[in-house]
Amino acid sequence: MERSLADLEVLVRNRICSVCTERTIEGRCGLEQPSSCALFRLFPQVAQAIQSVQSDDIQQYIEAIRRNVCSVCAEQAGDGSCESRQQVRCAMDAYLLLVVDAIEEATGKTFDRRGLDGAGSGVATRRPPKAATSTVI
Ligand code: SF4
Ligand code: SF4
Repeated sequence: MERSLADLEVLVRNRICSVCTERTIEGRCGLEQPSSCALFRLFPQVAQAIQSVQSDDIQQYIEAIRRNVCSVCAEQAGDGSCESRQQVRCAMDAYLLLVVDAIEEATGKTFDRRGLDGAGSGVATRRPPKAATSTVI
């Protein structure tokens, strides 16, 4: 993948923030502390996870994200659980499919998503309810 970190973050922000339920009608992040969003707080690790995998199997990217991102996130408990993940409050997890979409655009790949459909993947697979726009916060 030849995308720079900055390019990839812009791409992911365009995809995720524009549909995120935390986004305000003014087009800003509605979190009390926008910098606390795990997806972008840990974006270097996200990019590293993406770039560490050479596969068409999306499950391997998910595992890399868990290994490289969740493992260094302060929200994750010692047993590997995450309350934010369980409550679908982590943009990283809640919008993972859209992150995947952005990754596909960046790499030109089409991933096998069958692993996302089964129980026990540990991944929230819901699509956000809002319509996508292309505005960057
Ligand atoms: S993805 Fe993160 S930074 Fe973007 S609007 Fe949602 S909570 Fe805020
Ligand atoms: S799922 Fe939990 S541990 Fe993983 S990035 Fe999100 S908040 Fe952090």
